[in-house]
Amino acid sequence: MTESTTIRWEQDRSGVVTLVLDDPNQSANTMNQAFRDSLAKVTDRLEAERDTIRGIIVTSAKKTFFAGGDLRDLIRVTPDTAQDLFDGGMAIKRHLRRIETLGKPVVAAINGAALGGGYELALACHHRIALDAPGSKIGCPEVTLGLLPGGGGVVRTVRMLGITDALLKVLLQGTQYNPRRALDNGLVDEIAGTREDMLAKARAYIDAHPESAQPWDRPGYRIPGGTPAHPKFAANLPAFPANLRKQTNGAPYPAPRNIMAAAVEGSQVDFETAEVIEARYFVELAAGQTSKNMIQAFFFDLQAVNSGANRPRGVAPRKVTKVAVLGAGMMGAGIAYSCARAGIDVVLKDVSLEAAVKGKDYSGKLCAKAVAKGRTSQEKADALLARITPTAEAADLAGCDAVIEAVFEDTSLKHKVFQEIQHVVAPDALLCSNTSTLPITALAEGVERQGDFIGLHFFSPVDKMPLVEIIKGERTGDEALARAFDLVRQINKTPIVVNDSRGFFTSRVIGHFINEGVAMVGEGIEPASVEQAAAQAGYPAKVLSLMDELTLTLPRKIRNESRRAVEEAGGTWTAHPAETVVDRMVDEFERPGRSGGAGFYEYGDDGKRVRLWPGLREHFTKAGHEIPFADMRERMLFAEALDTVRLLEEGVLTSVADANIGSILGIGFPGWTGGVLQYINGYDGGLPGFVARARELAERYGERFTPPALLVTKAENGEVFTDAR
Ligand code: NAD
Repeated sequence: MTESTTIRWEQDRSGVVTLVLDDPNQSANTMNQAFRDSLAKVTDRLEAERDTIRGIIVTSAKKTFFAGGDLRDLIRVTPDTAQDLFDGGMAIKRHLRRIETLGKPVVAAINGAALGGGYELALACHHRIALDAPGSKIGCPEVTLGLLPGGGGVVRTVRMLGITDALLKVLLQGTQYNPRRALDNGLVDEIAGTREDMLAKARAYIDAHPESAQPWDRPGYRIPGGTPAHPKFAANLPAFPANLRKQTNGAPYPAPRNIMAAAVEGSQVDFETAEVIEARYFVELAAGQTSKNMIQAFFFDLQAVNSGANRPRGVAPRKVTKVAVLGAGMMGAGIAYSCARAGIDVVLKDVSLEAAVKGKDYSGKLCAKAVAKGRTSQEKADALLARITPTAEAADLAGCDAVIEAVFEDTSLKHKVFQEIQHVVAPDALLCSNTSTLPITALAEGVERQGDFIGLHFFSPVDKMPLVEIIKGERTGDEALARAFDLVRQINKTPIVVNDSRGFFTSRVIGHFINEGVAMVGEGIEPASVEQAAAQAGYPAKVLSLMDELTLTLPRKIRNESRRAVEEAGGTWTAHPAETVVDRMVDEFERPGRSGGAGFYEYGDDGKRVRLWPGLREHFTKAGHEIPFADMRERMLFAEALDTVRLLEEGVLTSVADANIGSILGIGFPGWTGGVLQYINGYDGGLPGFVARARELAERYGERFTPPALLVTKAENGEVFTDAR
């Protein structure tokens, strides 16, 4: 007999009921209305037929176990509808609580991913067995979307693991564990190799625990490690604010704070009250702006970008089998590693065999580290290294179906290396340059097949940075664009697509962030305050330290080239106030940045940053000169956001999702904003509020803050930045 179609009821003769999650209308099970209705019915029936039931197994007929809440609903929650969310959430919690306290053993047979609400469902069971399926992930990643696990996840992990482990292993980082690591960290109780094995283990648990209950529903239960009054907790407590600070950098991320509050307050009261506390903190986050920003970026935009919203339609997907990487320096070595890790054969070419071997050694070091940390096996590491062939001979590039060039940033050198190899590689090989600034259209002039030439801009360090900016030159064909897109996905990175322009999107926009920070130093603001403002705005790197990393000479070179290009085209160059600061730092004080041993910071012999250079105060700082701290933070954020709108106007950017994702993953635009255009959408007062504030900044700090026409028009028309048509 079928109780409902979303949760299927299967009962065997021995009295074991298997609740099979199997939403007939979706590929994954989610917390939709049909599920809520089914859960209510199933709970009633379990209670009504309690005496005929020996135990309960919860599993799913889908690839994933349970996908949790529907983010399309959550992103629409407003303070006005928050109470409905609270009530709906409490209703589900009460059903789960009734099943949990039925007095019968309940086992979660986790057959696939159980993240967020999926894992919370499993937590309401007495015993968790995870199928060791490839790609299966378990955990509570809500914090990464600006939320907290509001389905009992905070309350139960605290009671199961103790407050310290619950916070550090599950709640504050949002780690997604594979089944083995979930077992090691206490998130599940057993793992199984096959579905049959999993179900057999579930039955064995039921046989052995006829009257199972949660530990916290047994007499004499105490939270492991004690409550906050317990010495162990007290010993850990001072670390939490520091941990929180480290995680948020002082930037406006409300979720970690609410998670800690829900955990600590909930640990001091009974289970039911703790669930209400958790729900209040959850609803507060869901109704706020940060979770909307983060859901938009890290769920919807990321999905749009990775699924190929920008990939030309109608071009058949193609995989690369052998790639030529030209230049085995910092970038080439990292690109070679990332390609080899994805199973692609790599020929790594430099001017000498020695230089190429050195580039391969970089992969050797990364592999050794991964093996030592247990992230890969020795066999896999050996196989990866065997795929990389270092060489100095062009002839070794025969048969390569893609080329990624990463030699020095010099147009004529890039032309030369492509000329050397264009007839050696496969006749239709995709031709890519990793230039970070040079216009792709001009670089393409160095090859015969300009339609197959494209920009593939990686970020440093390549093995860690998830983004690749694809740049379409004027003559780049759709086929090349689609193949470049496929290659980026093949190496498990996220591709954004932009049209050609000097500095493209990322290099150009990050320049505005840096310039704004440097300009503030030039105005006489205390440099340490400038650094603090960047951190509190949520930037992962402080602005002056980032400038030192990039070196002061490189942006100066780029700026001079840009100025020449503008003037040659008959235009007038508008100097940025940062320019004189950079010029003085390089020419007068000989401080070209970290690689030169001195920049805005002082560096020790080991290259480590020591402190801000005291000379900055002497030469630039005006004692007592202060501007509002909010202005300092917003000048950096606005400078980037306003230029992004100009890039949309100029047609360099064609998608809002690309701008948001590219800004967060590529150039460290703060994640709490949801990306550089979502920051404008979500600004206090919406687009009109943003425009008004930009005008205020323009009046105080210069015309560069004047809002572009596109922004003003959208604000006037009540629109937001969106790809939705
Ligand atoms: P690098 O100086 O570390 O490496 C360049 C390598 O190219 C050197 O090993 C050099 O020997 C080699 N080379 C020079 N001439 C060659 C030739 N004729 N044939 C083969 N190899 C040759 O430079 P990098 O930082 O790896 O940058 C390489 C490219 O990537 C540049 O275009 C740069 O703008 C771009 N890029 C750099 C970064 C970054 O953060 N460093 C980020 C994105 C893109």
